[in-house]
Amino acid sequence: MNQDFRNLSQFKFSGLGCWLTAFVVCWLLGSVGLGWLVNSFFILLALILVAPVIGWFGFRWWVQRNLVEGPCPVCSYEFTGFNGSDCRCPSCGEPLKVESGRFNRITPPGTIDVDAVEVSAQPVDD
Ligand SMILES: [Zn+2]
Repeated sequence: MNQDFRNLSQFKFSGLGCWLTAFVVCWLLGSVGLGWLVNSFFILLALILVAPVIGWFGFRWWVQRNLVEGPCPVCSYEFTGFNGSDCRCPSCGEPLKVESGRFNRITPPGTIDVDAVEVSAQPVDD
């Protein structure tokens, strides 16, 4: 327990030292006329920080554009899927294709669903 605490405090101190070193290096670079290097570093840092935010908003926009909510054409169970993707109804397991904002059955129209019935085979005597 005590050992753990000491390790933690050492870790914190080394982190602070790292930041201090980075700050001193930046200041030195700036003082010897390499301010552009520091600036480009901060621009890069800002890009690294901003990129995930832009990515997140882009992803949300894409999800809102592509998320389709509607009823299953077979059992009318309401669920969500992605536009242009194939999925299965979570209620009845029917394979569905998401097209133009609604769910369509993959099986072509006119297909008649037939339940397989087990028939006991009986030998035919001539
Ligand atoms: Zn269904």
